[in-house]
Amino acid sequence: MSAARRIVIVGASLAGAKAAETLRAEGFDGAVTLVGAEPALPYERPPLSKDYLRGESDASKAWVHPEEFYRDEDIELRSGTEVVAVDLAARMVILTAGEQLEWDQLLLTIGAEPRRLRLPGIDLPGVHFLRTMADSDALRARIEAGGRMVVIGSGWIGSEVAASARQGGMEVTLLDRFDVPLQGVLGTETGRIFADLHRDHGVEFVGGAAVEAVEGDGRVERVRLGGGRTIACDAVVVGVGVAPRTGLAEAAGLAVDNGILTDACLRTAVPGVFAAGDCANAEHPFYGRRVRVEHWANALNQGPCAARNMLGREEPYDRLPYFFSDQYDLGMEYSGLADPGERVVMRGDVEGREVVVFWLDEGNRVLAGMNVNVWDVNDQVQELIRSRAAVDPGRLADPDVPLDALT
Ligand SMILES: Cc1cc2nc3c(=O)[nH]c(=O)nc-3n(C[C@H](O)[C@H](O)[C@H](O)COP(=O)(O)OP(=O)(O)OC[C@H]3O[C@@H](n4cnc5c(N)ncnc54)[C@H](O)[C@@H]3O)c2cc1C
Repeated sequence: MSAARRIVIVGASLAGAKAAETLRAEGFDGAVTLVGAEPALPYERPPLSKDYLRGESDASKAWVHPEEFYRDEDIELRSGTEVVAVDLAARMVILTAGEQLEWDQLLLTIGAEPRRLRLPGIDLPGVHFLRTMADSDALRARIEAGGRMVVIGSGWIGSEVAASARQGGMEVTLLDRFDVPLQGVLGTETGRIFADLHRDHGVEFVGGAAVEAVEGDGRVERVRLGGGRTIACDAVVVGVGVAPRTGLAEAAGLAVDNGILTDACLRTAVPGVFAAGDCANAEHPFYGRRVRVEHWANALNQGPCAARNMLGREEPYDRLPYFFSDQYDLGMEYSGLADPGERVVMRGDVEGREVVVFWLDEGNRVLAGMNVNVWDVNDQVQELIRSRAAVDPGRLADPDVPLDALT
């Protein structure tokens, strides 16, 4: 057990709340303070573009823990409180109103924020970004009002919002500079599965789109594309990715490069200071380089891993990157890391959207796998990746060959 008596966690979301829980579960009996800028209890974000956005679940379903958990576990939760500076020499954080909190160990779980687009009209009322519950509330009200929504960017958030808005009865146009949705993550061949999915549900997908401006008189009325097309609309959602929040760490003097740099045990170079979740760019033992993952499972598991290491363990975080998405009746899981341009092998019914997609390197080793409406194969997909075994692409594509026979 470490000698720390006061642990401060900055960022009260999934990674932060799971870290606080783990500190107590591991028997830490010093002071734990969880400071979060948002007013709500720590919550999980996946529902914000899915069931919560569609009004099918309430806020409590997204909470990481109910309110009494923090009281019962003697975790001081400071919601609605922003940390404006970290003083590494004095070992304290400074809150908005000038209040100071001292710490022996500090965990930064400050997450990521949506990338902005520099476009004329982007600040007009009716243009939405989606990161917080408040953002999702505003968007839900917009969907309930009906009309046409234009979604700029067909990554995960854009695609899920397009699906939820369509399910909520809006007309939806989904725009991307690429030719098919999710091309930047999955490549063209696999992105076509999502192009068909959205088209089959009545979403207009416009590929190769260069958005020139958002226009309107006092609020958004249309989106203008290069080539002269304008799309009349009542709302715009921008989903063009996220950037790690690093300003606080950088100002404090921590090393930052596409996230807060840590070793495999999620330690920064400053003793006693850790980072986890979307904001952390951590050494990954399997890949032998730093990897920053901006997905739910990473926040869920890195927070606890950091907490255990704060208590003196030497536990490298070596889970493979994993994420999931739900759009209409399609559910998928993706494991691993692959360049979207790598060779693709599909196993199953592509047209029927029941398929496992694999990305292989030039040595036929599996880099990543995505199961679409096929369940209980994720462990085997991860084993294939971890094995680094060269596989026969013909056998990999054959659903009659068990996946575990390939390793
Ligand atoms: C709409 C949406 C849907 C998603 N769906 C999926 C999905 O289906 N599958 C999947 O795998 N992933 C999904 N994700 C990604 C997943 O939610 C994130 O990876 C996860 O939230 C990261 O958690 P985190 O705790 O690291 O950071 P965040 O969730 O970003 O939380 C960081 C917290 O720190 C707070 N903070 C920042 N700076 C300060 C400061 N200076 N002082 C105090 N507090 C501060 C922020 O206010 C925020 O509450 C989704 C994300 C969004 C936005």
